[in-house]
Amino acid sequence: MSPPARLGVFGDPVEHSRSPVFHNAALRAAGIDASYVKIHVPPEKAAAAFRALPQAGFIGANVTIPHKAAALEAMDEADDYARRSGSVNTVVVQGERLLGFNTDGPGLVRAIREEFSVDLRDLRVILLGAGGGAGRAIAVQCAMESCERLVLVNRTLEKAQALAAELAPSFRSDRLVGPVERLQVIGFEEAALREQLAHADLIINTTSVGMRRTDAPLIPPSLLTPNLMIYDTVYASGRTRLLDDASAVGARCANGLSMLLHQGALSFEIWFDRAAPLDVMRGALMEEEV
Ligand code: NAP
Repeated sequence: MSPPARLGVFGDPVEHSRSPVFHNAALRAAGIDASYVKIHVPPEKAAAAFRALPQAGFIGANVTIPHKAAALEAMDEADDYARRSGSVNTVVVQGERLLGFNTDGPGLVRAIREEFSVDLRDLRVILLGAGGGAGRAIAVQCAMESCERLVLVNRTLEKAQALAAELAPSFRSDRLVGPVERLQVIGFEEAALREQLAHADLIINTTSVGMRRTDAPLIPPSLLTPNLMIYDTVYASGRTRLLDDASAVGARCANGLSMLLHQGALSFEIWFDRAAPLDVMRGALMEEEV
């Protein structure tokens, strides 16, 4: 008999989610009598679905598109990072209460360290898609890490400007006396990108642009140079155009699978207050990938 469903991921759609594969492997490896399931919830039912978790005997849950902001609203309590990023991806059931966390930003920090052997806080970051949910979560993480520089790039400029106004206090310091501002906002114009890339180490893509071969490049390939690191949070099979263009010039690059893995491992740590069996989780994810 399979263990009872006591964890799951809420989403709409949710069929694509890879979380059950590595969470179930982790639960088995840790000898925990629970299984992790996909839970399809349309937006109008999200709040009620979160409130039903204690009654259903759940330990907790993950939350994916489009419910992360609604999840924050539904929590009785949320940690500082979840509140600042405006979203929750990890729920803990504590009696009748729901506690919210977000492991996307901390997961990215671990992924960057693993992929490039550097710490996010030491990098000058260009964030593409800073107006979206994932972009905001990563921008807040960069601010909390006080990374060297952060350039918010977004198609809708006002969204990135509003975010920059919120984050500005974290970048007001005399730590870096450099030639350029530590926090800046630009659109996708070539001249502005060229200027900022001259003072950058890492590009993070949080738009979903590039999965289709017909997508126009987010950044003109001629602006990419071998000294850059490129992290694309997209983790669907196949490479984005940005990663193809980056590897063609010899830049170091990685896709979002490592962030997916580490945000999941951090959720496990929050639910069970013990280290996640990371190798088991990675193995399960990679097995599914081939
Ligand atoms: P979202 O809230 O819908 O945000 C989408 C972002 O993409 C916005 O900034 C939007 O700009 C921008 N965008 C959309 N189309 C564009 C275009 N044609 N040109 C330029 N910019 C465009 O989505 P999200 O929830 O943040 O998710 C974004 C991506 O992050 C997804 O692909 C997802 O797979 C990935 N993600 C990965 C992980 C992981 O663990 N690896 C975790 C979370 C998310 P505007 O503001 O101008 O509309």
